[in-house]
Amino acid sequence: MMGKFTVWIVLAGVAWLGWTLWRIGRRRAESAESPPPAGSDSAGPPAQGTGPAAGESPPEPMLRCAHCGLYLPSHEAVAGKRGSSYCSTAHRDLTEPAPRDPPASR
Ligand SMILES: [Zn+2]
Repeated sequence: MMGKFTVWIVLAGVAWLGWTLWRIGRRRAESAESPPPAGSDSAGPPAQGTGPAAGESPPEPMLRCAHCGLYLPSHEAVAGKRGSSYCSTAHRDLTEPAPRDPPASR
């Protein structure tokens, strides 16, 4: 009984794998067949500076939290006072306590 069930699971996995590979190959073929949008007659490089690798989004620089060492994307980092970056305002306050300017809480 269990052997038959296992066979079905394996068959499903193989089918999923084949479908995924087929999808990836189809996407690559489509992107390869699509002609470049500009620069049909110009002999030089395209005037629109798209960069050498036309990626979907530029790689975001990773910043390191100066307190716990966690790496996080730059748009999620909290900027410190001395040019350092932190993963959260709590770690920034722990590392850079305000000397004479306590927060007005309490
Ligand atoms: Zn941190």
